[in-house]
Amino acid sequence: MKKDISLYIHIPFCKQKCSYCDFVSSAQSEDVQTHYISLLCKEILGWKEYLSDRTVKTIFIGGGTPSILSVSNMQTLFNTLHSLPIPSETEFSMECNPESVTADKIHCMKQNAVNRLSIGLQSTNQKELQLLGRCHSYEQFLHAYEQIQQSGFDNINIDLMFALPNQTIQDHIRTLQKVVSLKPNHISAYSLILEEGTQLKKQVDHHYCEIPSEEEYIEMYRNTIHFLEINGYEQYEISNFSKQNHECKHNIVYWERGEYIGFGVSASSFVDKKRFTNPMSLQEYSEHTFYTPKAVSSIEQIDLEEAFEETIFLGLRMNKGLSIPWLKQQFPSFTGEQFKKTLSSLQNRGLIYPTENNILQLTQEGIEISNQVFLEILL
Ligand code: SF4
Repeated sequence: MKKDISLYIHIPFCKQKCSYCDFVSSAQSEDVQTHYISLLCKEILGWKEYLSDRTVKTIFIGGGTPSILSVSNMQTLFNTLHSLPIPSETEFSMECNPESVTADKIHCMKQNAVNRLSIGLQSTNQKELQLLGRCHSYEQFLHAYEQIQQSGFDNINIDLMFALPNQTIQDHIRTLQKVVSLKPNHISAYSLILEEGTQLKKQVDHHYCEIPSEEEYIEMYRNTIHFLEINGYEQYEISNFSKQNHECKHNIVYWERGEYIGFGVSASSFVDKKRFTNPMSLQEYSEHTFYTPKAVSSIEQIDLEEAFEETIFLGLRMNKGLSIPWLKQQFPSFTGEQFKKTLSSLQNRGLIYPTENNILQLTQEGIEISNQVFLEILL
């Protein structure tokens, strides 16, 4: 039987840079985008032989803003992807932002077997959207959402953020209420992280706006979990909630350390226990792919210790947790006395708990301060 593989395709273009963003993305002309797509297709085709021996389980076109591509560039990319053996049941996701969604583009995605759309909204509050530097309004989002639904897409994610500048508990609840009333079957809710060097970090440092306190952040996170739960969304990962059977299969591949190939600038791949990373700048990516279809700029062999750390860090993000007997079997040299001591200390403080079936899970409090818990386990 062929082994499963997932594909990630990075589109590093956006209409403008959001104030909080440190992703590899920038505003570029259509000519630059067209050139990039031709390199991307070359890179994808360079893996064609390798992929003939794999089953493509999921595809995710992310960014950046993939919906910024013209219909013609989208079609070129889809044609290349469809030259690979892609089963009809493959989960095929694409990210969109409201300002660049058009009926033509939605039609193109639908015609090319995209079966899951992820729309970046972040907030329904115009002032919050402005502080985030988003270039769309809530009304534009509603228009895009309606068009997407009318085109027959029924597997839709809405991306939200909380703990936003000047956001109150009530503002946040209003956003949750409005989004839930639209009945998407998946909601991602990430807390804002103020990244060094971003416009928003400077604004906060200069007291132009204020981010919520730690207590307010926890209250917003608890409200998110509670409100989504009573509305039929199961939390299956720290920041991800879905209706039954609508979890994002692609992200689960990452959290379960499944194999994937990333195409495009800054994308990384994980295959045969190695991590491959593509160049971080458009310029370097163009140079690499000009001479060879494989754009990889660095290869890292993942040793047992790193594999253990990743397994803990990624596995505990998921609410279903990690099987302790399985961990012991996979990593006998890392699950000895020291590991037991750390676990019992975390357990005594109510941050993790082993279930009756010997599954290690974060408690509610552990989920709220998950980064701290992971650090303790990995030290
Ligand atoms: S849309 Fe996303 S990738 Fe683009 S600038 Fe905003 S946050 Fe960054």
